[in-house]
Amino acid sequence: MGIFSNSEKLLSLQDLLHYELRDLYSGETQLIEALPKMEEAASHPQLKEAFKMHLNETRAQRERLDEIGRLLDIDMKGEKCEAMAGLVKEGSEIIKSKSTPEVRDAGLIGAAQRVEHYEIAGYGTARNFAEQLGLTQVVALLTETENEEKMTDEKLNRLAKETINLSAKTAHANE
Ligand code: FE
Ligand code: FE
Ligand code: FE
Repeated sequence: MGIFSNSEKLLSLQDLLHYELRDLYSGETQLIEALPKMEEAASHPQLKEAFKMHLNETRAQRERLDEIGRLLDIDMKGEKCEAMAGLVKEGSEIIKSKSTPEVRDAGLIGAAQRVEHYEIAGYGTARNFAEQLGLTQVVALLTETENEEKMTDEKLNRLAKETINLSAKTAHANE
């Protein structure tokens, strides 16, 4: 969240919901840039595929936020999610590191799961506010995305535990 540097006015729960939605919008926008780089850096075909699929979902998620913007008649742009910028930066550190493909894959999953957890928290917060405000359509759209983020997190977790972490443990670089 951009910490009040632009003296955000948050005088009602509605203001706060709009602020949270803009933050989510910024996050999804940053991920549309970052996920292709994650996909490119990944080696395991299933991990590549997972990033590719989530890029498509992420584009649809931003469209859902655009739809929410139309429903609420608000501009979704103008906020920068600093936390997502930090998480993306940590992911790019893994990408740039001198690493074996197997270890890099395990690191990429760790970075990606942090992102999903952050998104789950953000969508959950926004959904709760929208519920409190009786915004049924907004709640439905936010829930749809929240469920996709949860499924992505679970998929990555399974991939790490069933495949990638073991490969990372057993593969050694020839030094
Ligand atoms: Fe944020
Ligand atoms: Fe997302
Ligand atoms: Fe996501």
